[in-house]
Amino acid sequence: MIPKTRIVDLPVYEPGKPIEDVKRELGLTEVIKLASNENPFGCSKKVKEAIVAELDQLQIYPDGACLELRGSLASFLGVKEQKLIFGNGSDEIVMLIARAYLEAGTNTVMATPTFSVYKTNATIEGAEVIEVPCIDGSHDLDAMLAHINEQTRVVWVCNPNNPTGKMIAEDELVRFLERVPTHVLVVLDEAYIDYVKNEAFPKSLNLLEKYNNMIVLRTFSKIYGIAALRVGYGVAAEEIVDKLNRVREPFNVNHLAQKAALAALSDQEFVAQCKAANAEGLEQVYTELDALGVPYYRSETNFVYIMPERDPREIFQEMLKQGVIIRAFPEAIRVTIGSKDQNEKMLAALKSVLTPTRG
Ligand SMILES: *Cc1c(COP(=O)(O)O)cnc(C)c1O
Repeated sequence: MIPKTRIVDLPVYEPGKPIEDVKRELGLTEVIKLASNENPFGCSKKVKEAIVAELDQLQIYPDGACLELRGSLASFLGVKEQKLIFGNGSDEIVMLIARAYLEAGTNTVMATPTFSVYKTNATIEGAEVIEVPCIDGSHDLDAMLAHINEQTRVVWVCNPNNPTGKMIAEDELVRFLERVPTHVLVVLDEAYIDYVKNEAFPKSLNLLEKYNNMIVLRTFSKIYGIAALRVGYGVAAEEIVDKLNRVREPFNVNHLAQKAALAALSDQEFVAQCKAANAEGLEQVYTELDALGVPYYRSETNFVYIMPERDPREIFQEMLKQGVIIRAFPEAIRVTIGSKDQNEKMLAALKSVLTPTRG
């Protein structure tokens, strides 16, 4: 058989190691996973009730237009319903954007390091991927602009950036948007917006009024805590939503996921509690990292990018042996903020790995 040439060498996405696998392989009874930026507090209790209430409806196809969720979310965000598009996670919206806007002969501009899904999908569509190194973990927006040309179709801006946790302020983003040519779609991925505390963070939905070559992506997988169910969405001008709808599968968001997202949205008290606990967790982690003298970036998210001198793969393996799953990058490790207790365990493991006892 002969697959498409450009997919043959694509890296297969490596998810964070599942807890049960690690328990089995290492014979550990207690394992914590701080690798995938999941919510350590689960999700709102209202979600479970909403799902249970639907269990006699599983023979019915989902609402392909997500009308109920669309209505609620539109009024929550203060945007027109027609400006929303839903996906099986915002990962799917990334795929739809690549499908609709990228092909051989075009190119797409993104930061590095950033969320790996952009590059994978662009490569599948045959577009040239132009990666612009971050400066101190932040997008180098001027350099990204300098790489945009006639063939550029999409530029990806992850704010705050995964994996570095750093954010772009509104004034900086506006300066960028002013200079991006109108034939280029700007994808502003705000998966972590609900954790941001910095007041200079862009009010992106307002910016959409003026810059209609932009789509804002958000998700129910992070602070809302329903990653298992896969619901994400985009907000953009109707013209963009129309193009994405043409390449979207008709029933891409399942019924339980729609009901769960609706319930999750209705519990903003849960969201506020998670945000506050995360802020405390960040301080807890910073305090220990400062004591260890390890460099890291201060984060606007629920994870921290840490740059120890030791090889990140080795750190990953040794922490794994202690039942703590984190994420290794070529030049750093990334740890998700967990509960207070999980953070303590993670920090103890990290400390033991970074300060080996002599003997
Ligand atoms: C987690 C994440 C997403 C996607 O999440 P979904 O579960 O697919 O909604 C998108 N972008 C970034 C930067 C993320 O970290």
